[in-house]
Amino acid sequence: MDLFEMSQIPLNEAIKVMKLDETVADLFVHPERTMEVSIPVRMDNGKTKVFTGYRSQHSTVMGPAKGGIRYHQNVNLDEVKTLAFWMTCKCAVAGLPYGGGKGGIIVDPAQLSERELEALTRGYIDKIAPIIGEKKDIPAPDVNTNAKIMGWMMDEFSKINNQYEPGFITGKAIALGGSLGRVAATGRGVMIAAMQALKVLKINPKKATCAVQGFGNVGCWTAKLLHDQGVKIVAVSDVYGAIYNEKGMNPYEIEAHVQKTGSVARFKGSKPISNEKLLELPVDVLSPCALELQITKANAKKIKAKIISEGANGPTTPDADKILKKAGVLVVPDILANGGGVTVSYFEWVQNLYRYFWKEEEVIERQTEIMEKAFNEVYDAAKKHNVDMRVAAYIVAISRITEAMKLRGIY
Ligand code: NAD
Repeated sequence: MDLFEMSQIPLNEAIKVMKLDETVADLFVHPERTMEVSIPVRMDNGKTKVFTGYRSQHSTVMGPAKGGIRYHQNVNLDEVKTLAFWMTCKCAVAGLPYGGGKGGIIVDPAQLSERELEALTRGYIDKIAPIIGEKKDIPAPDVNTNAKIMGWMMDEFSKINNQYEPGFITGKAIALGGSLGRVAATGRGVMIAAMQALKVLKINPKKATCAVQGFGNVGCWTAKLLHDQGVKIVAVSDVYGAIYNEKGMNPYEIEAHVQKTGSVARFKGSKPISNEKLLELPVDVLSPCALELQITKANAKKIKAKIISEGANGPTTPDADKILKKAGVLVVPDILANGGGVTVSYFEWVQNLYRYFWKEEEVIERQTEIMEKAFNEVYDAAKKHNVDMRVAAYIVAISRITEAMKLRGIY
């Protein structure tokens, strides 16, 4: 089964529970528009190399498409379409006035010089320019893209249109109209989701333990912000391995260690464990913040966490979901738990349209309000329909999107 097919399983379950007809599934299966582009780049050795890129707009029913751009050697159309579909649902769950989109270029950016990377970035924007814009489709960073790349994109798009275009892209540096609070936003959302889940399970955060898989942007902030709430971080990992200390570790110190050594490995007082073992630790909260397809039929039975707060997109397979539901694990799904990034991206866009910028406390307060409300709506839907939180999140998303579709005369 490919990733897109897999992503449709909870959606179809939600459609069944809601007793909607098959037309709805059909409307979600097909992205509104997908563009494949070829980008020739003059490399430093004087030769021209042609790269392939994509931009998929899954839906613009609720507003402009919104979603990141990924640079990775494994980028493919199936993945881009799936991530765009998840963005549609994520924005609807948070109640943002957006649809969903995603883009990507097949490239290992570590193999390019800075000049080649900039040329590739500008070439990609030249090619997708006809379908993007602050009222059409608003990109953002994703895996291997960052504020610097967003700056080049904004500059290129501004040149194409002969006007300053900060609102067409989010995740920019503050000097280019970025929002305070954006860097920590996804991890903050994962923390808020975990805290809400602890509350409904009546677990005292000060007595709770947590393991975080992946110590990049999302995982590191999730760990730091949960630590700030008194939750004990007993294990974290990165691509090089995992570390464990049952007495708890300070993620701020782990971050400093990563900055010095490049990895979480060999952090003082920790003992090394495998990434597989990390997922199976007896913790209150497990937060997968690395990759897709980490909790599967093969290891779901061994999961001992009471709560899973998904930072990564698609870390749990539908087979694993069934096992976890039976075992009583409260899974806060990706389209709810990791929606903090797009929520603050939305704030960035609003601030850009107004040319008026908010204080960080204001950003955090508004993000918290949106995410707590979304959690409660999904939790209530789960109880009402007797489904898990993932299917409930799709119920919330579908009801909002289909209402807009009906009012627009699409469905
Ligand atoms: P990142 O590149 O900053 O961090 C990824 C981390 O995962 C790194 O520490 C890496 O070493 C680690 N990792 C990779 N493979 C691993 C493995 N097999 N086992 C353990 N660790 C591994 O990326 P990020 O921005 O933190 O994104 C992480 C996930 O969150 C992705 O699925 C992404 O799509 C999702 N996400 C990110 C954002 C955002 O705002 N950055 C928003 C929503 C969802």
